Amino acid sequence: MIVRKSKSELETMREGGRITSACLKMLADNVREGVTTKDLDRLAEEFIYDHGGKPEFKGYQGFPASICASPNSMIVHGIPDSYTLKQGDIISLDVGVRYEGFVTDSATTVAVGEVGRETEGLLETTRRCLAAATEQMRAGKRLGDVGYAIQSVAESRGYGVVRDLVSHGVGRAMHEDPQIPNYGDPGTGFRLLPGMTFAIEPMITLGSYDISISELDGWSIYTADGSLAAHFEHTIAVTENGPMILTGDGVPGAG
Ligand code: MG
Ligand code: MG
Repeated sequence: MIVRKSKSELETMREGGRITSACLKMLADNVREGVTTKDLDRLAEEFIYDHGGKPEFKGYQGFPASICASPNSMIVHGIPDSYTLKQGDIISLDVGVRYEGFVTDSATTVAVGEVGRETEGLLETTRRCLAAATEQMRAGKRLGDVGYAIQSVAESRGYGVVRDLVSHGVGRAMHEDPQIPNYGDPGTGFRLLPGMTFAIEPMITLGSYDISISELDGWSIYTADGSLAAHFEHTIAVTENGPMILTGDGVPGAG
């Protein structure tokens, strides 16, 4: 069942989304050589509590940390640890905040110092995939339009779209119906309606889209071929006035 949110519930989500967004920005500002992913986790946890939120990931199905931090060929769900960022890495950071009963979920991928042109292209393309999907978050559009927008941007540039992980509804729970594949056929699937809220999260690779799950921790998910992966995510509401990015600056259509 897809839960639609009232205007006042969307307003609450937007307030929570500002915390999520500011937390990610703070983390990105702290990404540099020599910082561990555990350091970033500690900063995020403090930041979220200081701003009146609760880190939603901590304890989620036993997840031990407040953020996911996934370097290089790790796509998502990395557990922050002693991994020390070095020049030329990319690091995907994923934050979920519960605020007054609602969850917002957002992610970004950041380069550590200078990276090559190919890596820049991966980050830029994944950002564009998210922007293209956001543009589809309008009443009357269909779910397949959203996936298709992501897939066509990524594949036209020769990148892989991860298929085994999906975008999703979000609200009182971090994962609500429906699951939204980041690929699809336009004009298929159910129609979007005002008040629906989704966490749209393209995961794009430089190589193939096959994944493997770490046998060590059971959480971290890597590209099977070891290629680099990027992940950008926003919580977005479908409104009568078009898409509203709840984890952006709160202005309809803006990131
Ligand atoms: Mg997320
Ligand atoms: Mg998500």
